Amino acid sequence: MIEKTSRLEQAAIVGLSYDILVQIIDSLVVNDAVHFLSTCSSLHTIMKDEWFWKHLCSHHGVPDATAFGVHSFRALFTTLLYPYSPLLGLWAGDHPFTGNILEFRVVPRFGKQPGGIVGEMWRFRVLELESGDEPEAPETPEFVPLVWIGFSQQDLVRGRTDAATALSAQLFCCVDATRKHAMELKVLPETALGTILHTRHGQFMHPDFPDPELSAWLDTCRALPRVTDTSLKSAHYPPLSPLRSRPRVFELFPVPTDCWKPRAIALTCERGCIKASQPFLGFKNDAPFPPRYYPLRHCVPRGISPSSDSWSPASLCGLWLGSYSSHGTECVFVGWDETRRSLRAVKITGDENVPRGVVSWEARAPPADFASLDANEQQSCSRVLGGDVHRCLLFRGAGTMSSRGFLPSGRYFPSMVLAISSIDEMNVVWLDTGAEWGSSFVRCKGCRRDP
Ligand SMILES: [Zn+2]
Repeated sequence: MIEKTSRLEQAAIVGLSYDILVQIIDSLVVNDAVHFLSTCSSLHTIMKDEWFWKHLCSHHGVPDATAFGVHSFRALFTTLLYPYSPLLGLWAGDHPFTGNILEFRVVPRFGKQPGGIVGEMWRFRVLELESGDEPEAPETPEFVPLVWIGFSQQDLVRGRTDAATALSAQLFCCVDATRKHAMELKVLPETALGTILHTRHGQFMHPDFPDPELSAWLDTCRALPRVTDTSLKSAHYPPLSPLRSRPRVFELFPVPTDCWKPRAIALTCERGCIKASQPFLGFKNDAPFPPRYYPLRHCVPRGISPSSDSWSPASLCGLWLGSYSSHGTECVFVGWDETRRSLRAVKITGDENVPRGVVSWEARAPPADFASLDANEQQSCSRVLGGDVHRCLLFRGAGTMSSRGFLPSGRYFPSMVLAISSIDEMNVVWLDTGAEWGSSFVRCKGCRRDP
């Protein structure tokens, strides 16, 4: 029986041609591929083949290891791509009110540095309100480099880069390109900490991020970078200063909540420039630890015209950039909720009125005909959308607005009409707000590309 099984295994795996083995390895995730090849000495020899490592590197668009300062694909993969490739893609920061988006990508060259992995922050333009600067269309962000991960020039000069025992990828803060210095990437454990807003009117919980009910944006399939987890616990945080009874400005403090947040990453640098480059917030934030970043889902579904029979509200799922009047451009994740039969736009970046993590608007199916809108709604839609209104697919719904601070007493939920005008464009017409105005949205096809 044992002999039969052994023969069967040999026939099934070891006896396969090299091409078939390649196809099997191709279909496995990296860990499984390495485990598979470790099952017997015959297969293990494949791991000594530089072709195998080149193949794994090609999954990340890396055709040439020398551009990264190393001469073997094995060194490149084991020291850079294996530990850090889970970073590739988008990350949503839990910064109170503003949120923040980071994007990691592989670059063949970075300034005077060889290739590596670069992490850039999406910085949206701050409007100059005194000059009436309120663009109607959303604007694409500026990409601000924060992190570079690769092999240092020193290693290259010393010729150490192929000695696997001496080689390790370095992490540098590149906020100030002239003063490159070390930064730290941490994988943080789950936490139940949240944030409270302390005001002279009382204390109010800040929306959790991610909120389990509103986390369609959270990419639970993405792995975290393969670096040592930190055991950063709330008990290790420095004690908070006592709360002032009547603070002059709103203050933010971490507090325990019932809402558990998953593992996350955090970035810090020794000079504090990563912290200084965060989006501006006019409130005092006393959190003694850096913001947490979570994997942000980014999918661009096949474009289906709203006039097509195969179009459905789920065709709108994904990231969108929207114009939020004086707050400028913000990013929302649109998800289709089958149970509620509604489209919900959750803010990934927010502002001092309506923060990140909050439903910006919710539009209910089925679509409404223009003729079914009441006279006021028709008038508002026509003023905002002009003649295009008759070509749009319309949905009724409600949005979220607030005075500064998102205090419960300052929130209100005006009616709105969502108007889908094309595959990648839609508008929200805000009603009941005293004057008609619209927010326009364009699909965020991401990810950053070199010019
Ligand atoms: Zn720095």
